[in-house]
Amino acid sequence: MNFQARPIRTTCPYCGVGCGVLARPDGAGGLEISGDPEHPANRGRLCVKGAALAETLRPDGRLLTPRIHGRVADWDSALDMVARRFRETIAEHGPDSVGFYVSGQLLTEDYYVANKLMKGFIGSANIDTNSRLCMASSVAGHRRAFGSDTVPGLYEDFEEAELVVLVGSNLAWCHPVLYQRLVAAREKGQGPRVVVIDPRRTATCDIADLHLKIKPGGDAALFNALLARIDRQGAVDRDFMAHVSGVEDAIRAARASDPEMTGLSLGDMARFFDMWIGTEKVVTVYSQGINQSDSGTDKVNAIINCHLATGRIGRPGMGPFSVTGQPNAMGGREVGGLANMLACHLDIENKAHRDAVQDFWQAPRMAPGPGLKAVEMFRAVEEGRIRALWIICTNPAVTMPEADRVARAIEGCDFVVVSDMMEQTDTTRLAHVLLPATGWGEKDGTVTNSERRISRQRRSLPQRGEARDDWRILADVGRRMGWESAFGWSSAAEVFAEYAALSGLAGELGSDFDISAHAGITPAEYDALEPFLWPRSARRQGGRFFGDGRFHTPDGKARMVPVTPRVPQPLAPAYPFRLNTGRVRDHWHTMTRTALSPRLSRHLAEPYLELHPQDAAELGLKPAELAEVSSPHGRAILRVLVSDRVAPGHPFAPMHWTGETAPSGRIDALVPWLTDPLSGQPASKSAPVAIRPF
Ligand code: SF4
Repeated sequence: MNFQARPIRTTCPYCGVGCGVLARPDGAGGLEISGDPEHPANRGRLCVKGAALAETLRPDGRLLTPRIHGRVADWDSALDMVARRFRETIAEHGPDSVGFYVSGQLLTEDYYVANKLMKGFIGSANIDTNSRLCMASSVAGHRRAFGSDTVPGLYEDFEEAELVVLVGSNLAWCHPVLYQRLVAAREKGQGPRVVVIDPRRTATCDIADLHLKIKPGGDAALFNALLARIDRQGAVDRDFMAHVSGVEDAIRAARASDPEMTGLSLGDMARFFDMWIGTEKVVTVYSQGINQSDSGTDKVNAIINCHLATGRIGRPGMGPFSVTGQPNAMGGREVGGLANMLACHLDIENKAHRDAVQDFWQAPRMAPGPGLKAVEMFRAVEEGRIRALWIICTNPAVTMPEADRVARAIEGCDFVVVSDMMEQTDTTRLAHVLLPATGWGEKDGTVTNSERRISRQRRSLPQRGEARDDWRILADVGRRMGWESAFGWSSAAEVFAEYAALSGLAGELGSDFDISAHAGITPAEYDALEPFLWPRSARRQGGRFFGDGRFHTPDGKARMVPVTPRVPQPLAPAYPFRLNTGRVRDHWHTMTRTALSPRLSRHLAEPYLELHPQDAAELGLKPAELAEVSSPHGRAILRVLVSDRVAPGHPFAPMHWTGETAPSGRIDALVPWLTDPLSGQPASKSAPVAIRPF
């Protein structure tokens, strides 16, 4: 490729806002980074992580050659070994004896090839993604309510709204450019009022007109109470109810639930209800504080119920809005990256859908139904039911709940392949075969952000060492397993074209996901592809879904779901604190990139435990002292930060540190394998722990 000193239009590799980035080669092997003023997601803005991207492109720690049992190997030997071991395992133990664990950091083309290989050719649906830890409850909630996993609104709804309610979302730190857009709208004097619903007083509360310090687990009770009040006040939109089923049952369940579960005063709740009901243009934004719960799906539906009851959905400035954590969590959902989904929003439990995809792929052996979700998958690895595992672009030995147990399970697996950019991670150390993958700036593909906007991520740097693109590695293995023509693409553009063609078929089967206009895309057109919203019909409605009252259920109606709020699991006397886990502003995931930037590492330089002054006093802990935090599953040693931003009994610790960066700070080692029964998403915000001075 010809590297010229002109900016290359690409996207940020971090959060689900999906900001457009201009990357200009600096002539010294690096890039100059700025926000893309023409990208609709950010209009030139970047947060501190995006702005520091150039500092993270150093070659430090990169995996540059394949390895077999720790020794440098050539690509042919490594790929032959992967194909042979997977083939042998499947022949001996069946298709469900293998698994892929992939990532919301993958590009859509990578995801597509991984899914095709596992679901259509290996014949199992044992492919799941770290997005399961991020937004699976939103997917399940959308599908229950709308019949499809569809985000109804757009980012501009944040600015057009008169009230934005942020539930379990620290937007200021986790989706900073969306937060900046909200702040800018308010500074113009026309922006929305903001309510933050969060047990913590986060940075987002700086702009809150009302902060409801809700009890952990109280969200469904709060939105049930709101729904009951909507009904009592006669605020149900009777015309819109022609498009909704389950209304009476949902309202009955709402009336029966106990508002005391929220831990809020009646006055605060009344103020919130008055604001919500009295404002037509409301957007309710929710994120990990809702999703990462053992009743996350119910919480999502309790929120959606209120928007359906009032008909506040799919029109400018209103609707429920799930913001995803990862840059391509949405692309992964669209392409069927979860074990319980099929490509293009088709249903893996629907035989007609499976048959159609099998026919399209000319696939020999289609997965007969859903596969194992993330936690189930690692349990199967632990129990020896999965004997060959391929981990791609993620570090589950740190980030999965009960991370120590997951690391032991991986270590005990017969055959483990890890594809990664980095040589030394908690997971790469456990691999029999290590495959070097290209990273951000070195690969071509597409991503979808939280508002369903598909954008190109473009190559702007040469590939390092012998690293290869993930889609290509997967296709190479597919060909070696005997499926030459099905995995014969020569570029990411060809993969995208096939995916787009499949979406046309999906559209004929009733799927809302349709990008078939790009089915015949040429490499030049792919290179020039502008960010776009799918599908075209939604663009005719201003880019929003459901404003016309048509949903993707068999009867075309949305479903209000009766929600009975569940209290979080009670705390045992030995573990009397409920630990909340989450992100910090300037680091990303396991810090493989952000730790390379001195600027980003300055903000919060080490793992910490944020503890209420009352708890600190009772435990005899002073600021900056070390605390031992333990659960039945693991232990961490953390620096104490005493702060009344957290509630008594509910400390907070960030999730970024690893065995490489701070061996005593691996927080997910403490989190239990407790999941939402519908979505399979772990309850990462509610780990029972003990704390004592270290
Ligand atoms: Fe990147 Fe998210 Fe920051 Fe945008 S808001 S620059 S996508 S990290």
